[in-house]
Amino acid sequence: MNPLHMLFPAHCPYCGRVISYTQPACESCCRLYPPNSVNMKFRHSECIAPFPYNGQFRKAMLNFKFYGKPQYSKQLSMNMAALIKDKYSDKGFCYVTCVPITKKAFNKRGYNQAELLAKQISSITHIQYKPLILKTKNNKTQHTLCPSQRKENVKGVYEINSKYKSKIQGRTILLIDDIATTGYTLSECVEVLLTSGAKAVFCATYAIAKRYNPQ
Ligand SMILES: [Zn+2]
Repeated sequence: MNPLHMLFPAHCPYCGRVISYTQPACESCCRLYPPNSVNMKFRHSECIAPFPYNGQFRKAMLNFKFYGKPQYSKQLSMNMAALIKDKYSDKGFCYVTCVPITKKAFNKRGYNQAELLAKQISSITHIQYKPLILKTKNNKTQHTLCPSQRKENVKGVYEINSKYKSKIQGRTILLIDDIATTGYTLSECVEVLLTSGAKAVFCATYAIAKRYNPQ
């Protein structure tokens, strides 16, 4: 066993039990909460997720995102990677990337939860990770706004990372975020990639909220 794993054991993201590094959750939570497939369609793309955004899945995500548990990324990404391999097996992804956060937000939280998930998914699926998109403007946090405000709030806040501009042309890209609620954030990032010449973009998140229809 890796000695680091003894010092820093993995925990079940739902109940907190110590688990093996190779499991997405403890055995009883795996039985209680089997992954299924939730999806959301939006303009020019779609999103898949192993879980709905409610109950224990929401709690795990809040712990991961707001309560300083970046180590959950390994567990949370396992079911995502399995679903990606299953549902997107024919896509021929060239890169996996993530919805970015601003430098200011990064400095405050210390990590970008979507980036951690994307990197874990990269290591499981062997799709190369690249930070293709940057968030250059601060906007209001999406979950503080009503659905109609959310669409406007994400307009023009993302741009292509100029370092990778020439690498996007004609490529099919996998875009990762933690959760999808309205789909506006993902949709905006998809547009940025397509405008820069990407052939197609498909999205995956850990959970999808089923309350809104982004169309
Ligand atoms: Zn558990």
